[in-house]
Amino acid sequence: MDADVIVVGGAVVGAALAYGCAKQGQEVIVLDGHDQDMRAARANFGLVWVQGKGSNAPAYHQLSRQSADLWPGFLRELTETIGMQVDYSRPGGMIYCLSEAEYETREALNKRTHNYVPRNDTRMVDRRELERMMPAVGFGPEVVGASYCEADGHVNPLQLLAALQRGIVAAGGKMLFRNTVESIEPGPRGFTVKAALGTYAAPRVVVAAGLATPALTDPIGFKIPLRSERGQLLVTERLQPFLPYPGSGLRQTADGTVMIGATKEDATDRGVTVASATTLALRATRIIPALASAQLVRQWSGFRVMPPDGCPIYAESAAHPGLFAAACHSGVTLAAVHAAIVAPAMLEGRLSTDLAAFSNGRFDVQKCA
Ligand SMILES: Cc1cc2nc3c(=O)[nH]c(=O)nc-3n(C[C@H](O)[C@H](O)[C@H](O)COP(=O)(O)OP(=O)(O)OC[C@H]3O[C@@H](n4cnc5c(N)ncnc54)[C@H](O)[C@@H]3O)c2cc1C
Repeated sequence: MDADVIVVGGAVVGAALAYGCAKQGQEVIVLDGHDQDMRAARANFGLVWVQGKGSNAPAYHQLSRQSADLWPGFLRELTETIGMQVDYSRPGGMIYCLSEAEYETREALNKRTHNYVPRNDTRMVDRRELERMMPAVGFGPEVVGASYCEADGHVNPLQLLAALQRGIVAAGGKMLFRNTVESIEPGPRGFTVKAALGTYAAPRVVVAAGLATPALTDPIGFKIPLRSERGQLLVTERLQPFLPYPGSGLRQTADGTVMIGATKEDATDRGVTVASATTLALRATRIIPALASAQLVRQWSGFRVMPPDGCPIYAESAAHPGLFAAACHSGVTLAAVHAAIVAPAMLEGRLSTDLAAFSNGRFDVQKCA
């Protein structure tokens, strides 16, 4: 055996799980793919977000909230170990409403999720209160208010990824980049993982390869259904700090740039379009008209890792115990629970009890019927 655990995929989900396993004293090897791979971890918006998550799925809402609550301690421990700064803050977050209808829809959605948690920290704020909370922002005339949740925050996702990868090494694990896994073969004593640069063996394998996960697990009968969803984002030049709260679709980063996003598109190519840039810029300037004079410096697209119902999948193969898969949207938000809750549950055989709501069995129509 080369390790106690092999993690396939070293982006934000695989790295958080590997970090969690290494912190439990496990010998961990992470096999990551190529620079050109789809990597949502390098293309995302950087929200550590609770409101609106799992509005029809209480377990997912609660998991997102648990992760957001664990985030400050998780990041402190990670960054103290490696001596690296990661820009993160949790001032609460806004979802802006540009009409009475949007305001009412959001209010109704909040009422539903209030029932999922003991603590009610999401509320509607009207325009007057919004102006009081953000005096330096000149809101457009259409802004009627926002939904504000104290639990929301934001992070620099590129720094987070780098910190997690360093954290794995600091905890004794190995990160092997440009080492694409070709196959996983179950055997009597564990698994043989064939990769571009070598063959590795371990009693446990966690597949967290984003959208490439099904291609590795399906051939051995471990079905992980996923679809991709393209999202495009814009970023402006650096501006003086003026936006103290991150918002869904609009946030100012610690270095002053304003991120505007993200579209939801059923498209498979990696390009960007003028149409999406226009849609994003129009909504942003309806919220904050002054943004019309900011220079855009970059536009990019990324692909969301989407399970069919939008909730995470944490699963262990019934046919090959010790083989796990983890796939989700919101891997930034969930990084803290991945390290602190999901990784130990995998190691201790508690996935099917503690995190049963997230099993891939929920997509098995015959079993459910
Ligand atoms: C536009 C957009 C905005 C988003 N905004 C947010 C947000 O604000 N907050 C939030 O929480 N989440 C957000 N997300 C979601 C978040 O980025 C993803 O949930 C997360 O990146 C998924 O991480 P992952 O590690 O599963 O997959 P990815 O980041 O896609 O990485 C997959 C990894 O697997 C590796 N790999 C693939 N195949 C193999 C193989 N055969 N062998 C070895 N390695 C392999 C790749 O090299 C890569 O490193 C957003 C996503 C997008 C696209």
